[in-house]
Amino acid sequence: MSTPPPPSQPQDQPEVVNTQNADLGDGVNRCPRCGSTDIQLRASTGMLICLFCRHEWSEQQAEGQLFDDGNLTELRGTTIGSGAADIAADVNAVVTLKCQGCGAEVVVNTAAAMSSRCHWCRHVLTINNQIANGAVPDAVLPFALSHEEAVARITEFASKRKTFANRQFLKEFTPQNVVGVYMPYMIVDGNVSSDVYGHGEVETRRYTRGTDENRRTYYDADVYQLHRHVDFTVDDLTIESSAERAMMDTSVNTNNIINTILPFDTKNAVRWNANYLNGFSSEKRDQDVEQLQPALEHQLLSIARSQVAPSVSRYGRGVRWEAEKVDVHGTRWVSMYLPVWLYSYFQKEKNMVHYIAVNGRTGETMGSIPVAQGRLLAVSAAVGVVAEVLAIIILVVS
Ligand SMILES: [Zn+2]
Ligand SMILES: [Zn+2]
Repeated sequence: MSTPPPPSQPQDQPEVVNTQNADLGDGVNRCPRCGSTDIQLRASTGMLICLFCRHEWSEQQAEGQLFDDGNLTELRGTTIGSGAADIAADVNAVVTLKCQGCGAEVVVNTAAAMSSRCHWCRHVLTINNQIANGAVPDAVLPFALSHEEAVARITEFASKRKTFANRQFLKEFTPQNVVGVYMPYMIVDGNVSSDVYGHGEVETRRYTRGTDENRRTYYDADVYQLHRHVDFTVDDLTIESSAERAMMDTSVNTNNIINTILPFDTKNAVRWNANYLNGFSSEKRDQDVEQLQPALEHQLLSIARSQVAPSVSRYGRGVRWEAEKVDVHGTRWVSMYLPVWLYSYFQKEKNMVHYIAVNGRTGETMGSIPVAQGRLLAVSAAVGVVAEVLAIIILVVS
């Protein structure tokens, strides 16, 4: 006898928490010491620096500022930062600001940049108010690795693979062309329960019958029906929020590389200030919370499976999970820009873009390099290096 499932509940509306940085507005935002608007991120310190008086400062850490932090096990429903709110399709990416310096009208195309210099009075105008096009996140994790360090990492990565690389690639290799890009992610906390069902086997006896060629080994095993329930919380899961980047069509790109340079120390992210983006490019978020639910559930299920694994270690002949479900009691979402140094290479003959990506915080480097097939075969006898070559190929074709 089973009880009928409860009638489906209407989807609760997410609670939106205002994460707007109230200390800043659109337009002229000045150095707190001298009033200049020439402000940049200094990657070596992770601080903003005034290019005029060299004063350095930083926005407040986002952690603990955007939400009332509290116990994740008490998380219920869906809470999202206002920077993670749904994107309005009709919002114009082009914002016109009135320069407070001279009164001129300055245009910023937020699809490509978050600041612009007034061409009359030279003030820098920045976009800090959240616009409903996904361009202004709740928080930003500033670059901590300089351009020179990124060039060094990429050079090292490529030179280790020089033997197998396509000659054209080597000829055109210009690591100085690496670009700093802020990539859009959702950072998710969750309070979750999961149930997994399956069968596990324990060997009870092993014996042989027959003689010589007809000798066979037999196993007796007890088969157990398994059900595991696990309650857990997740803190700062990272989910890609650009559909184009999440597009893993490995025949045309190697986007999956970006995911191999995770994790990022998202706890050190700061509240939004467009000046962190000066000199870097950024990619706008184009996915809403609702569209990212399947990606979240996918991650939660793999966490659930790894959580229950230790509890089934006595089933020595193996465990087969056949059904699983995840109940999400509560989630909290913030949108965040994460820093990536990207070197891209377009391989004409295959119509394929290759990337070498460097984590802008940790320096973790991964990439795909076009491989010269002839050279690959020539050296395949050298077993020690083959393992590394395979790793490159897997990234390209998997
Ligand atoms: Zn200053
Ligand atoms: Zn002006």
